[in-house]
Amino acid sequence: MIREELVMACYCDIAGQTRGKGFPLSELDARLASGVGWTPTNIMLTAFGPIASSPWGPFGDLILRPDPEAEVRVDFQDGSAVEHFLLSDVRNTDGSPWDCCPRRFLKSAVEDLRSETGLQILAAFEHEFYYFGAQERIGSAYNLDSIRRHGVFAEVYLAALRAAGITCDSYLAEFGPRQYEVTCEPARGVQAADHAVIVREMARATAQRLGSQVSFAPAVTPDVVGNGVHIHLSLLDSKGVPVAYDATAPHGLSRIGGSFVAGILRHGRGLCALTAPSVVSYQRLVPHRWSAAWTNLGYRDREAMVRICPVNETGGRDPARQFNVEFRAADATANPYLALGVLIRAGLEGLRQELPTPEITSRDPETLTTSERERLGVTRLPQSLGEALEALAADEAACAWFPEQLLDAYVRHKEAESEIMRGLDRDTQCAHYTEAY
Ligand code: GLU
Ligand code: MG
Repeated sequence: MIREELVMACYCDIAGQTRGKGFPLSELDARLASGVGWTPTNIMLTAFGPIASSPWGPFGDLILRPDPEAEVRVDFQDGSAVEHFLLSDVRNTDGSPWDCCPRRFLKSAVEDLRSETGLQILAAFEHEFYYFGAQERIGSAYNLDSIRRHGVFAEVYLAALRAAGITCDSYLAEFGPRQYEVTCEPARGVQAADHAVIVREMARATAQRLGSQVSFAPAVTPDVVGNGVHIHLSLLDSKGVPVAYDATAPHGLSRIGGSFVAGILRHGRGLCALTAPSVVSYQRLVPHRWSAAWTNLGYRDREAMVRICPVNETGGRDPARQFNVEFRAADATANPYLALGVLIRAGLEGLRQELPTPEITSRDPETLTTSERERLGVTRLPQSLGEALEALAADEAACAWFPEQLLDAYVRHKEAESEIMRGLDRDTQCAHYTEAY
């Protein structure tokens, strides 16, 4: 059969979906210069089809400008179509950045962090997902047999990631039925969010080649352990030296790292509107599901909103290079550029105000008295998307991080999503998200 390679210019939108337009491979050089045409209202496409009330309606034109630094070309060598796409910036037709471009939002947060503090962010998105093609077995968490029971998925996936330029750090069978987890090497700034998109798309591409599907939905079914996205963060100075670690500070969190985390916790409730931005995200963010439920900083606590991760000092390994904190109140319905962007913005507020390191909790916040929680500044995370949007609206400083049009589009979009889900029972909501993500 005759075939010609297709290249897609894509971006990740408010719904966290990867969408774009394609062109023949022969046109790649020309398209790198000119981009492909795009429509503003496309960013209002919900994950379920209907378009949220759009500020632009049928008007306007944009350009998807592929970034040659974010090119993925993976040939699965099974005769299937080559996966060839480039993550793109969304620009106005005069080439200037579009205010609602999520990648631009992250780039400007990275740039402000650098220009004001000289710091760079190093991040890794750890993903959990559900693989439909795995054979379920009782008690299968971390089981070698669970790896066996999902056939060649892991091998093909690792190879696809490698071909896409991403090195897997670890891979495992998670606690839930048919649940797996993948962690990749950290990357700086925008590249970290690019990698999050690629990690999701390569999992989908792998499953599709194997005649199956994956889902990154935060809750595949109600009351079963959720699929989290844990965003690991560390800070480097302008020379690339890690600065979040201080061996003499409590649990190794330096003054700089502590201020950064304090900013995140201070804005924690509003951040959820960006990091856990779906109706079913709040089925996951409940106490005792090993996700996150309170605005606390925990040492090695897998239910803290921000967890100080362990370092491995065996064999003289440098703790400073490994040291990182993990933001746990995120999932894959979030756009990774917006999620990382707001974490940087919140952290930067903490640095500007030289906030002290939050007190590190070592107990379940639920077991603390109200006054103890008040003293620690620990509050319950929003319990619905609506509550998260209200928390964002009430956080004036956080609202000011966004170009006005982006905030307006985002809120409209999320309100439409809530409306689509209204009246559906929890099983149906989960089923829709499982299909869409
Ligand atoms: N599945 C848990 C979540 O929803 C995370 C479990 C873990 O890796 O600690 O975040
Ligand atoms: Mg996990």
